Amino acid sequence: MPTYVVLLGAPGAGKGTQAKRLSQALGLPHISSGDIFRENLKNQTELGELARQYMERGELVPDDVTIAMIRERLSRPDCAPGAILDGFPRTPAQAEALDKMLHDFGGQMDVVLYIKVSQQALIDRLAGRWMCRAHGHIYHERYNPPKQPGICDVDGSELYQRDDDKAETVKHRIEVYQRQTAPLIAYYRERGLLVDVDGEQPIDAVTAALLAAVPQRAE
Ligand code: ADP
Ligand code: ADP
Repeated sequence: MPTYVVLLGAPGAGKGTQAKRLSQALGLPHISSGDIFRENLKNQTELGELARQYMERGELVPDDVTIAMIRERLSRPDCAPGAILDGFPRTPAQAEALDKMLHDFGGQMDVVLYIKVSQQALIDRLAGRWMCRAHGHIYHERYNPPKQPGICDVDGSELYQRDDDKAETVKHRIEVYQRQTAPLIAYYRERGLLVDVDGEQPIDAVTAALLAAVPQRAE
């Protein structure tokens, strides 16, 4: 039965960083809604053009578009064993749609990992975040610097700072998170799926805490 792990947390909490590590450790694909939108922006697809206006303003892309995109992605063969979901769901409507999708795929939610980080740390992390052009590998100029400034350790591509990581947009994204996404904490807690993890520990310690919270899967 396919199993799904959801990473929940504010922008900058460390979802992308940790999702890549969990994906390797658990052998499940990492599905990031933000990465898929950025890929579409880069390739100038219709979806990318639609998403652009929302992303630039730090708003959420409308639910119907986002849900259809994730449903399509999760139905591909590499997701047959399940997936690590990073950045989806982000609204109650998306969470309900996800429940329905997983039911349709004959799967179930393993766990929702909530990475908790204070607002000041979020701002500090996003201000120093650098991303690789080729595959979205994530760095921080102080907390997780690349070996060579401006170059990705993994694939040698150029590192850049995201437009939506500017201080003003970040403030708005955190407000959007509080209003639209934070209600999912209670939604999943009530279903007994939520595990809280302290996201202000060093990256390796957060990974260990997350892995310890994932139920052992019977093969
Ligand atoms: P999210 O996907 O939740 O927005 P990221 O994984 O992109 O978060 O992390 C945001 C920034 O914080 C990146 O620059 C990353 O290198 C850094 N970071 C991630 N986890 C930690 C941590 N535990 N301690 C310090 N910095 C971190
Ligand atoms: P972060 O983890 O730093 O908040 P992401 O890369 O997950 O950033 O998302 C970047 C942007 O992409 C969001 O600000 C939003 O505009 C859009 N986006 C990503 N995921 C979703 C989603 N599930 N629903 C709506 N919009 C989304």
